[in-house]
Amino acid sequence: MKTIRCSSLPRRAICPGSMAAEDGIESVDSAVSMAGTAGHAALEAYYNAYAHELFTSPATVEFRAPVGDFTDGLDDITASRAKWYAHVMDGIIEEHEGAVEIHTEVAMSIELGEVRLTGHNDLTVICADGVTLISDWKFNFLEVPEAAHNIQLMGYTLLAIKDMALPFEIGGEIHTILIAGGNENPFSASKYTPFHTVALETYIESIITNSLAADAKRVPDENACKYCLAKCSTRCPETLAEVSKGSPMALALCESHLPDNIEGATKQVMVAKELAKLCKAYIDRFNDFVRENEELCDGFAELQKPRVKREIVDCQAAHDAITSHDLLTSDEFLKQCINVPIGKLEKALKPVLTARGEKVKDHKMIIAGLLGDALKAEVDPDAKRVVKITMKKEAVV
Ligand code: SF4
Repeated sequence: MKTIRCSSLPRRAICPGSMAAEDGIESVDSAVSMAGTAGHAALEAYYNAYAHELFTSPATVEFRAPVGDFTDGLDDITASRAKWYAHVMDGIIEEHEGAVEIHTEVAMSIELGEVRLTGHNDLTVICADGVTLISDWKFNFLEVPEAAHNIQLMGYTLLAIKDMALPFEIGGEIHTILIAGGNENPFSASKYTPFHTVALETYIESIITNSLAADAKRVPDENACKYCLAKCSTRCPETLAEVSKGSPMALALCESHLPDNIEGATKQVMVAKELAKLCKAYIDRFNDFVRENEELCDGFAELQKPRVKREIVDCQAAHDAITSHDLLTSDEFLKQCINVPIGKLEKALKPVLTARGEKVKDHKMIIAGLLGDALKAEVDPDAKRVVKITMKKEAVV
């Protein structure tokens, strides 16, 4: 049975063909997504501590550790957003007469038609007035559809209502809360009751049915493509065509990985890194494609012939075999082995010298002394090569 994550529902709704196009592609973390992950982890730790206080000493829960205690190690922007999001969320909880239960990242799942719908929203709060808050936060993107039009949150709502194995019960209204857009925007919310179940289920099922159709179309769209794993690959010829044309869309797709508040040289460097990552992913996927479709690519793309690695693993046996057939004398054979790698020899001798009480820093000197003239050491003036490049950020791209 195929699995569809709530987070992919918005993309499936816009581009039904993205489901087949992304099938089997592993996602790669970007620096931006890692920053978002760290922000989520800080809030998760804060609300887990909140839940613990609520459970162990509800009378003094207001004296719990502040969110600032959980933001160490975050960059300034992410830390500031984490504090703001917690501040906003805590305010909403208080408006609903306080929290009775708090759950973070609860894994939810139901069977829906031919697929399993899964998801875990960031925070679920059962409030004293009977309202359940289902919230999600976005750290790196300022433009996200408001809660009322957010299909991801609709998926979470349906899961919360229909998954019977959850550690909480939905008693009345569900308020979905989306906190995003940095420190300027308060939040966006939408309201559902269990009576909305049929409408939600019908809507989400229709998205899934369209995605599973054999003729599901790929529909390039800036919002859908920017998170799609198939973009700019042979899985999605439409966006690949944009890359081959060097169109602005290719760059826009790379830029779409970046937070909105990054500007100037830093942005250029980050775009360059995303481009490099895209090229690497593209080359890897292209290699895979040619390997899997060698006949199809005949005359168009040629695979490198497999290289055979050859090495003598038993020097003594090789010596004996060659000299016993009078092909070389022992001296002639040893001359061929003249380039015994000194690094390997030093490595082999290290445990013996250490066992004999010789200090590691003296090993090279001792071995050089033992080898005498057998060791030749000279600086090759032509062997200098670049080992590090430091570019001024302004010079990139
Ligand atoms: S990259 Fe865009 S057009 Fe291509 S499959 Fe993904 S969402 Fe659809």
